[in-house]
Amino acid sequence: MKGVVMDVFRKREAKGLEYQGVFRIRHSAASPVGRPGFLCFARILLGLALLLALFVFGLEAPAAACPVGNIRVHILATPKPVLVSADAGLGLLDVESGEQLATYSGKAQVVFFQDSGNVLLPDGKCVSGVRVVPLEETRANLLRVDGRGYRGQFEVWAASDGLIVVNVVGVEDYLRGVVPLEMSPGWPREALKAQAVTARTFAYRNVGRHSRENYDLCSQTHCQVYGGADVETAATDSAVEETAGLVLKYDDELIDVYYHASSGGYTESAGAVWGSERPYLQAVEDTADLLSSPYTGWEISFSRDELSELLAAAGIAVGRVETVEPVDWSSSGRTINFLVRGSSGSEVVSANRLRLAVGANRMKSTWVEVVLASDIPAVSDISMVEDLTTAVVVQGARGQAVQVVPSGSAVATSAGVTFVKVRGGGRGVGSRGEQDDHIVFRGRGYGHGVGMSQWGAKGLAETAPGSDENFFRQILMHYYTGVTIEPY
Ligand SMILES: [Zn+2]
Repeated sequence: MKGVVMDVFRKREAKGLEYQGVFRIRHSAASPVGRPGFLCFARILLGLALLLALFVFGLEAPAAACPVGNIRVHILATPKPVLVSADAGLGLLDVESGEQLATYSGKAQVVFFQDSGNVLLPDGKCVSGVRVVPLEETRANLLRVDGRGYRGQFEVWAASDGLIVVNVVGVEDYLRGVVPLEMSPGWPREALKAQAVTARTFAYRNVGRHSRENYDLCSQTHCQVYGGADVETAATDSAVEETAGLVLKYDDELIDVYYHASSGGYTESAGAVWGSERPYLQAVEDTADLLSSPYTGWEISFSRDELSELLAAAGIAVGRVETVEPVDWSSSGRTINFLVRGSSGSEVVSANRLRLAVGANRMKSTWVEVVLASDIPAVSDISMVEDLTTAVVVQGARGQAVQVVPSGSAVATSAGVTFVKVRGGGRGVGSRGEQDDHIVFRGRGYGHGVGMSQWGAKGLAETAPGSDENFFRQILMHYYTGVTIEPY
């Protein structure tokens, strides 16, 4: 298709229809944009007639043309005009008809406006959607919007309150803009490769997730964070390239691929978090996470007033909070429900809901115990820990509860003495006085705990023999039970 487009562009250039430089559109009586209102109106009438024809004759509406292997990623929604630029030329096509509309060579900038539910082009034409194509699809001629460069092409569509820009990009190129934002490019090669395979599986599995909004994936955490070409790194590009096309399957089908930052030592089953089991999303032991993650032991405290306000804002109305206690646990030790008691009543609240209510980045996971600051003993009160240096989390005496204790190399538990390697942490609790009315959540892990732990993947990759270029498969098969890794 690209060849055809280029041929038509060349013909247009030969006819002297080439445009250069910056195009600015101003809404004034003297400008040609007086016409577009009429043009847009005429197009709306035409659109209505087509819709009527579709209704009468039962024809199927044509899908927007999208080359095989490409994915359509939303990158911008704005009520303002959109400026798209390229260093070595770009062309415009009508998305729906495929008709070539204009060519701009050299350093080009084109501004699009929304007008009456259509996209207003620099020459005053209106289309419902315009495709923007770099004349040469190279690293040196990326399309740019909002200060960011992207591989592939753009589609600019009118929305009710402005314009949206969709990046039509090959899946492998898309992944080059995802992996460095999902995992630090400085991490070991095999961990980056495992991340590339999970991100690719997610992308293929979720094509059309936003089809109602006229694109496949968004570029935020709801889908996968995507930063385009500006965020690419050599290490993550290699990870994508060395796993090109590989995806995770179970029973010959793409899996629902979940991952999270840190498991805290044990991952969680999908059923325990969302109520719906997947055979490949089981809870598995994850000692590698304990060795590498900075989230093996964390804590956060809230004054009763603050916690009361946060819960009330989330519709958990119990008055002033008095106590919060876990009342049931998953097999991995994460809390499923809390009982919240307050001055005007009690309520059982799911752990996920409570976590969101207080902020998922503050209460990093649901693998927590809750203590009152006034009940926290001073460091010197804990006799079972040797070599006090930092804080660790260990399995508690009741099996499912968790205790945070000042750290060392050896920790006594009900199961005997456990040796724990520790990173980070720090106490920060045990202070007295004004902290006494605080409720403290002590936890481990970061995220829902389902599927691959990224810190665990890093920990595993650090144990990989340098020459083993297939170690990423072991990482993936550790976290996704019974899967196969094969070309899409
Ligand atoms: Zn999304």
